[in-house]
Amino acid sequence: MLIKNKSIAIVGGGPGGLTLTRLLQLKGTDIKVYERDFDKNARVQGSPLDLHDDSGLAAIRKAELLEEFKNNFLPGADKKLIMNEQAEIFFSDHDTKVEENFGHEHFRPEIERGTLRKILLESLLPGTVVWDSQFVSMEKENEGWKLYFKNGSSVYADIVIASDGANSKIRPYITDIKAFYSGITMLEGNIYNAKETAPNINSLLKGGKIMAFGKEKNLLMGQKGNGDIGFYASFKIDENWASINGLDYSDKAEILKWFKANYPEWNHIWYELFESAETPFVPRPIYCIPFNQTWEALPNLTMIGDAAHVMPPFAGEGANMAMLDALELSECLTSEKYNSLTEAISVYEKNMQKRAAIAAKESLENGELMHSQNALTTMSDFFKMH
Ligand SMILES: Cc1cc2nc3c(=O)[nH]c(=O)nc-3n(C[C@H](O)[C@H](O)[C@H](O)COP(=O)(O)OP(=O)(O)OC[C@H]3O[C@@H](n4cnc5c(N)ncnc54)[C@H](O)[C@@H]3O)c2cc1C
Repeated sequence: MLIKNKSIAIVGGGPGGLTLTRLLQLKGTDIKVYERDFDKNARVQGSPLDLHDDSGLAAIRKAELLEEFKNNFLPGADKKLIMNEQAEIFFSDHDTKVEENFGHEHFRPEIERGTLRKILLESLLPGTVVWDSQFVSMEKENEGWKLYFKNGSSVYADIVIASDGANSKIRPYITDIKAFYSGITMLEGNIYNAKETAPNINSLLKGGKIMAFGKEKNLLMGQKGNGDIGFYASFKIDENWASINGLDYSDKAEILKWFKANYPEWNHIWYELFESAETPFVPRPIYCIPFNQTWEALPNLTMIGDAAHVMPPFAGEGANMAMLDALELSECLTSEKYNSLTEAISVYEKNMQKRAAIAAKESLENGELMHSQNALTTMSDFFKMH
């Protein structure tokens, strides 16, 4: 095996990095994960993820974690309502959705990000994740790399795999190609214990998701397994809006005032989201990779997930692609088929670049549809037909 007796450093313990670590550990690899979060109890925010049968779930099966997944997913969380600004329902599958099951190609079970992280972490050998390790830089040393972290520590690894997400600090060591701004920014809010704190939105959601569409603006929200709600105001705006708008993201009243001013046609029923949210809100300008990105493969460095191919979240592909990268890279690195690590990494990268370009294009196009003047009709019709 090409990676026999090699030390591997994975930088970033998101769904991509942890899945890869599990898959390589099953093959007996010497591997560590360096993660920026202070410890395993860091609260993982964001909406639940739906895993797809041929990508995220395929990786979960290969990682021998399907039973744990089945015990922890959120049945019914994929049910949705499409609404307008006035919270009138244009589409609902709450009573009509056929309950598919594992093994069905269209079954997309939802799981909380924090739960998925916990399942993956618990599958790793003790001490695999080195917490509080924010990667800062690295330099070539012998056949591998010396990595430096913000906490002052450093470590040598024969092979480095970047899984440090959309703002990857390792990606520039591989390519100069940068992601471009999609034209859309999402303002993320999280509500804890929504039954008590946001009872009206909580009963509208009925354990599922709501996508409310206005003109070039929308509100997207989903219930989590622990009773929290994650939501996003999503809108077209200039790239630098988040840093130049002067908003204090820790001030709920100020953000509610911004919502009222910028979503003037929207019913007061939505105000509860902003009144009940934890602070700070998080602005997320949405980026996308160019569809034709390629680079020369290296023998000791590669990347997976958002580090390699950030894309808008509007096709629900990001985490699924990250986990499929993990599956495919683990197979290339442990295959007997290739003569060198450069060849193994090159095969993985070429395939990943093509696959990610297709998913990114679909995600970008969906984003355009969801933020168009007639998004409500387009999206209601789309779901009625599927
Ligand atoms: C609003 C929104 C909604 C989304 N919804 C969906 C969805 O429904 N379905 C879906 O499949 N995808 C969705 N995505 C995309 C999905 O979140 C990402 O594609 C996925 O999380 C990528 O996984 P990853 O492991 O590559 O990176 P990440 O999940 O970003 O993980 C990166 C990890 O690296 C760590 N890290 C970062 N920098 C450093 C550093 N310098 N040193 C050490 N560690 C570091 C971070 O702490 C983190 O743990 C959404 C994204 C957004 C923004």
